[in-house]
Amino acid sequence: MNQAVETRLTHLRAARRCGARNRAGRPCECPAIRGRERCRLHGGRSPGAPEGHANGMYRDGNFTAEAVSERRWAKSLVVDFVETRKDG
Ligand SMILES: [Zn+2]
Repeated sequence: MNQAVETRLTHLRAARRCGARNRAGRPCECPAIRGRERCRLHGGRSPGAPEGHANGMYRDGNFTAEAVSERRWAKSLVVDFVETRKDG
């Protein structure tokens, strides 16, 4: 019995962690739902709307996966630039 508890705790400690940001701006770090990236409190069971043309709002294209990833890329360039200026 004790060994089983120990084994379960070891697995729990090794579990993948939820990366959702909490109110303090830090990652949640609760154990994520098996096979998912988020914990039970942060949408691990319901990861969002289904993808595809039947389920989207395509009025202006500002929130397509492509547009969002492009904005992320642009923001990462700005962040990188600011960080390199800080160091030098
Ligand atoms: Zn979480």
